[in-house]
Amino acid sequence: MATQENCLFCSIIQGKIPANKVYEDEVCLAFYDIDPQAPTHFLVIPKTHIPSCAGVNPDNEGVVGHIFSVIARVAEGLGLHDFRVVSNCGVQAGQSVPHLHFHVLSGRDMTWPPG
Ligand code: AMP
Repeated sequence: MATQENCLFCSIIQGKIPANKVYEDEVCLAFYDIDPQAPTHFLVIPKTHIPSCAGVNPDNEGVVGHIFSVIARVAEGLGLHDFRVVSNCGVQAGQSVPHLHFHVLSGRDMTWPPG
């Protein structure tokens, strides 16, 4: 598991910063967003440091498939039927934490396109 110094989400993975965890295994961690944008809003992150979607490659792409499998199972476990999965890639797209993460939002009507 490759973590990076001074990365907020690596610090959560290492237990240095607390998080309200929803799910954890050897590959990924899911925890509730500290600033929820929907009645249910959690994040799923890989335990290995990948900066963003742009850092997904043939060597680590299995992590992303695993995360989507986890999203489906966690959503089912929480009774979520309709939900949105978002990953902001780059500052202009709204990424504020440079560690790959997938937002899972549910529990309210949503509009398209996102702002
Ligand atoms: P993004 O802006 O797409 O990079 O998403 C980063 C998300 O991380 C935001 O929705 C923040 O509210 C969330 N966040 C930042 N710090 C924490 C934290 N300590 N625990 C949980 N969520 C956090």
